[in-house]
Amino acid sequence: MSEDLEHLMNRYNRQELIAGWDQSKLENASIAIIGTDILANFSAITLAALGFGDIEIYGPGFVTRSMLTNYGKNRNNPDYSEGFLYFDAHAGDPKAEVIASFIKKLNPLVDAFGVNIDLCRAENRNVIGKPDIILETTNDPASKIVAIEYAAQHNIPLVSMSSSSMYAGVGFFDPRSNREDMMKLIENIVFAELKGMPQGTTTSQVIAGVGVDEVRKKIMPLRNERIIEDIVVYNMDAETRFERNGTNLPHKAADFKEKTVAMIGAGALGNFAGLDLVLNNVGHLYVVDFDEIESTNLNRQIWFYDAVGRNKAEALIEKLRKINPRVEFSYAKERIIPDSKNFFKKTDIDLMIDTVDNNKTRALLNYFSLRYKIPFISGGTRHNSGQATIAIPGKTGCLNCQADIDKLALDGYQPHSCIYAPEPSVITSNQIAAGFIGGEARTVLQPDIFGEPIHHILKYVSDETYRLGVLPSNGACNCHKNRVELMHWTGKMKHLYEGD
Ligand SMILES: [Zn+2]
Repeated sequence: MSEDLEHLMNRYNRQELIAGWDQSKLENASIAIIGTDILANFSAITLAALGFGDIEIYGPGFVTRSMLTNYGKNRNNPDYSEGFLYFDAHAGDPKAEVIASFIKKLNPLVDAFGVNIDLCRAENRNVIGKPDIILETTNDPASKIVAIEYAAQHNIPLVSMSSSSMYAGVGFFDPRSNREDMMKLIENIVFAELKGMPQGTTTSQVIAGVGVDEVRKKIMPLRNERIIEDIVVYNMDAETRFERNGTNLPHKAADFKEKTVAMIGAGALGNFAGLDLVLNNVGHLYVVDFDEIESTNLNRQIWFYDAVGRNKAEALIEKLRKINPRVEFSYAKERIIPDSKNFFKKTDIDLMIDTVDNNKTRALLNYFSLRYKIPFISGGTRHNSGQATIAIPGKTGCLNCQADIDKLALDGYQPHSCIYAPEPSVITSNQIAAGFIGGEARTVLQPDIFGEPIHHILKYVSDETYRLGVLPSNGACNCHKNRVELMHWTGKMKHLYEGD
């Protein structure tokens, strides 16, 4: 069997481990995306990675010289509101076609095409045909009304999303529903308050993940999963992050150009969290990962479609550099072990991000965070949930006080046990959790603009009514001051890292 064929056959392996998953339903589904800005970019890559068989992108607009210049090359404050998938494109290329050709590279099993067309013009509407779902991703209420009318006439379910730099929302329109408050729902999912605003990077990442997961639930529900009945929002301007607070939406752009971030883990979470940092113009991104890319990673690790067999950290920064060449990148092909302390001790790190997939490394990173007083954001996912915990010495509880990470690491430690058996994993929860990480990175790195970091764990659960929410958490702890405890920590946990 050729290597390429083997990669294709393995790519859905991790999601097919999920009970009830039926890949053929996704393969037979057709999705129409309306829009070509960053929400459309994030939606298209995630639909393609999941393996939706037929993805069509509709939207007017060409890649312009100024868009390409905005990719950080000649600008201090790059602007990615129109998308980030255009790094290999040329001025004059239709945006819809560039998205389609990128997602075909990302997953060659997907049939994708882009149509450069303005669907607001009535005579153009029928070009959509009859897809299984329409995904409206613009900040244009007129486009949404036209799409909803078309969906109603042709009995097609529709997911509507919009975003700004601080706020994004998603809602679902079911033409078969005869709910009494249908007009109110339509009013909500038109997102008139976002009309004409540039789309946000981090907000779009979170809401595209939620929206695509709803599409997946409509086409292939697991167990008792149901589609959202109301809108779901992510609001970086609200203290609780997930509530709508009026229509006075501020525009605040992040700019991390003075900051150094160390990201440990370049897998699914790292692919998205690293992208978020680069879209927010991070000054220096340092990526650590020992692993090599395998074909079973390709269902969720969006930047590795042509890099199977290579080191993850190296392959990731190679792609991210194309998107924002002004970022200084470095990487290490290493495991994090107690001796890695020399790096954390010496380097001036403004933020450490955990995008690893195991608790023993998380526990060790929490120790480094406490020992060297480095702000720390820890992300974690399961196939149906994702979360982020913010741990800033002196300001919040550490990861151990918030999530009992030392005990989890010790409990999971059983040499030669089966805990290393493959875990089911899917792209959407990773995309959403990475967005949470990116959102809180703003509060850690630029609190003067974005306010203080949240003191709760941010959580997405795919089959809970509210989808997005915060978990209660204890207040700030003093673990970083407890020198004696910290000195004993490495001794107590040492056996976990022996043999690494
Ligand atoms: Zn603590």
